[in-house]
Amino acid sequence: MPSPVPANPDFPMNISVPEARQMLTDLLPAHRGETVPVGEAAGRYLYADLEAKVSHPSATESALDGVACREADTLSASKEIPLRLKVVGESRAGVPFAGRVGAGECVRIYTGAPVPQGADAICPVEQLHDDGETAVLLLRPASRGDVRAEGGDFQVGEVVLLAGQRLTPARLALAVSLGHAEVPVRRKLRVAVLSTGDEVREPGSVLLPGQVYDSNRYGLSAMIREAGADVIDLGHSPDSPEVLAGLIDGAGGADVLLTSGGVSMGKYDFMRDLLLEQGRVSFWKVRLRPGGPAMLGGWRGLPVFGLPGNPVSSLVVFQVIVRPALTGEQPFTLRLRAATPFRAIADKAAYWRGNIQGGTVSDYGKQGSGVLRSLSDTGALVIVPEGRPVAVGDEVEVMLF
Ligand code: AMP
Ligand code: MG
Repeated sequence: MPSPVPANPDFPMNISVPEARQMLTDLLPAHRGETVPVGEAAGRYLYADLEAKVSHPSATESALDGVACREADTLSASKEIPLRLKVVGESRAGVPFAGRVGAGECVRIYTGAPVPQGADAICPVEQLHDDGETAVLLLRPASRGDVRAEGGDFQVGEVVLLAGQRLTPARLALAVSLGHAEVPVRRKLRVAVLSTGDEVREPGSVLLPGQVYDSNRYGLSAMIREAGADVIDLGHSPDSPEVLAGLIDGAGGADVLLTSGGVSMGKYDFMRDLLLEQGRVSFWKVRLRPGGPAMLGGWRGLPVFGLPGNPVSSLVVFQVIVRPALTGEQPFTLRLRAATPFRAIADKAAYWRGNIQGGTVSDYGKQGSGVLRSLSDTGALVIVPEGRPVAVGDEVEVMLF
């Protein structure tokens, strides 16, 4: 069989992971923005910085239930010699005390209630005896630390959230507390997905020996949605260049197409042939394992990223190359000590599946690129640089999956 590799390819081959990420990023359209109500913004990416429209706290307030008073009056208070203060009123969250706290005086105060004029400290309810009427006895001095200063969290006008950040639940809650009812977010990218392979079958159908369920299309679709993009599901193609070309032509409106399978060195890897012969190729093969055969190209103006068919390869290539390009976020990694050795590959970065336990990471063992359980059981990719094996006790970079 003649080699499918052209004699003088006019595209790079065997590029590095960062180069592959960058080339895919360069083919994606620039992000555009839209404004959505905060109730619909969870998981979206901010399109612009967000300023605080108000300060928080909006007044100087109490962090505790207790009494508000003047710290200087209470320095001698102790269990043995409690200090008596006169109660002159009450400050509740939403209903402040209008008067002023003078020497030897206090007001009963509740969490989130404004600290009245004159007072600068709080004595918590657990540290006082309250007669329920006009006096309290303090068992320790009141503390300024339990007063939350106006604007202590953020000040009006301060830039608090940044363009490109994802609205996690915490950031979404923060955006609301900054005073935003609507937020500028990136338009979602539309990512078409299709799988290839004569042996690949729909879930629920009867599986004959040699066939395999279409786990990639479902796994990839889930990862696309998790990355904040919309899925256009183009279904599945047999290993037929004509059917494949017809399906790709149906990807109207997509910003990018992800395909599974058919980009390796085999005779029936037609996704590769279509891009080589009738489309465009930006690169072929990336120096990583699993996932080496990945191919980037184009089909009539549509960027096409060909992921390898092996289930682990396909999801790892998405995580390592496609996801960062879609989201603009670098993958999150941490450094851990190796509890087992990890082998290196001479000319490829290896992304071995590992188990994290007690601050160390160990080899999952079954590292075949068809063993999906190696991903679902572990959730961590141990990055072993090209040609540099990891010994027990070495620090390694680990990407959470
Ligand atoms: P390919 O990249 O097309 O040569 O496929 C490589 C391996 O991945 C083969 O064992 C295929 O059966 C398997 N495979 C291909 N496509 C899928 C898919 N959509 N879901 C699960 N496995 C697949
Ligand atoms: Mg195939």
